[in-house]
Amino acid sequence: MSELHSHPTIAEEVLRAVRAVLGTSGTMIPLHEPEFAGREWEYVKECIDTGWVSSVGSYVDRFERDLAAFTGAQCAIATANGTAALHVCMLLAGVQQGEEVLVPALTFIATANAVSYCGAIPHFVDSESETLGIDAGKLEARLAEVAEVVDGRCINHATGRTIRALVVMHAFGHPADLDALAAVCERWHLVLIEDAAESLGSYYQGRHTGNVGRVAALSFNGNKVMTTGGGGAILTNDPELGRRAKHLTTTARVPHRWNFVHDEIGYNYRLPNLNAALGCAQLERVPGMIARKRELASRYASAFIDTPGVRFLREPEGSRSNYWLNTIVLDPGYADALEMVLKALNDANYMSRPVWTLMHKLPMYADCPRADLGSAEQLSRAVINLPSSPALAD
Ligand SMILES: *Cc1c(COP(=O)(O)O)cnc(C)c1O
Repeated sequence: MSELHSHPTIAEEVLRAVRAVLGTSGTMIPLHEPEFAGREWEYVKECIDTGWVSSVGSYVDRFERDLAAFTGAQCAIATANGTAALHVCMLLAGVQQGEEVLVPALTFIATANAVSYCGAIPHFVDSESETLGIDAGKLEARLAEVAEVVDGRCINHATGRTIRALVVMHAFGHPADLDALAAVCERWHLVLIEDAAESLGSYYQGRHTGNVGRVAALSFNGNKVMTTGGGGAILTNDPELGRRAKHLTTTARVPHRWNFVHDEIGYNYRLPNLNAALGCAQLERVPGMIARKRELASRYASAFIDTPGVRFLREPEGSRSNYWLNTIVLDPGYADALEMVLKALNDANYMSRPVWTLMHKLPMYADCPRADLGSAEQLSRAVINLPSSPALAD
C-alpha cells in the first residue's frame, strides 16, 4: 500500500484502539481532569473557617512532611508552582549568570525558562525513544565533543562558558535513565537536577523519582497527577540545601518576632495554606488514583498491541511509572500522519495532543547551543498524548 493510502488507515486504527478503551462520547473527554473525592472540601473549609488561608498555617508544614514521607526525600519544601520550584533548584545547584545548563529540547517550557531566570543559558540535548528522557550516550558524546573538565569545572570550549548542571525530565511520568545520566554528571562535574514535575508516584529502581539528583522539582498544577490548584515542591536529601530552599522561597527573612530583616534577595514563592490543605487531601488519594491510571494504561497497552505503525509507550524496564499521560508513538514511516491522527481523535471527542514544540524552535531559544537533536525532532512528529484521567478506568 502506498504512504498516501496508509495514512487514513493509521488514523482509523488509532481511533479503533482508543474507542475500545474509552467507548464513544458525545462530549470531549479531557486529557487529564483533577478529581476531588476525598477530604479536600473538609480541609479547605477548615482553612476558611479558621482564617488560616494564606502564607502561614499548619497545612503547609503537614503537606511538606507528607510529601517527604511519600517520596522518601529527607526534605520537601512547598512552593507556589513547579516553575518556581525549578527556579530555586537552579539557585541551589549554584547556577550563575553566564553559565550553561544542559536541558532536553523535548520538555515543557518551564525547564528552560528556569535556567533563563538565573541569567544562564540552556544548552539543548537529545532524547531517546524508550523513555523520552535524555539520551545518556549522546549526552556523553556531546560533552566529549565540546567540553573539558578544568580544575573541577566543566568548560564548553566552543563558548568558553562553564556548564554547571544537567536537568533530567521524566516525560509523562516515565523515569529517565537516571543511573547512566548520573554517571555522566559524575564524570563531567555537573550538578544533577531532576525536573520531576510529571513523575509524582513514579519510581526508578525502587526509589521515588527526585531522589537521585541533588535537588528536584515537583508540580501540582491542575493537570498533573494530583493538584493543589497551583503549586509545586522542591525535594532534596541534603538538609542544608533544604534549609536554604525554605529560606529562599520565603523572602530570605531572618526569623524574628516583629522585625523585618532579610539577609539576601529571596523570593515570595511559598505555597498558601489553602492550597496546601487541598494538597494534603489529594496526597492521601494519590496511591489509589495511580492504581487506576495504571489500570487504564494496561487497557491502552492491550488495545494497541496489534495496531500497525503505532507503539504504546510502556514504563521503562526497572521503573514503575505513574502513567501521567498515556502516550503513543507513530513509527518513523508515519511521521507525516501526525496531524491526521490528531484530527481524527479530537473530532471523535478524545482530547489528544502532540508533544511540546521543541525548545530550540522557539524564538527566544533559537540561538542557544545545542547538540544534534535528531531523535527529539523525530519524536516531535510522532508522539501523541491520550486521555488519561483516573476516572476513565472506572
Ligand atoms: C508542569 C511542569 C512544570 C511546572 O509547571 P507549573 O505549571 O509551574 O507547576 C515543569 N516542568 C515540566 C516538565 C512540567 O510538565
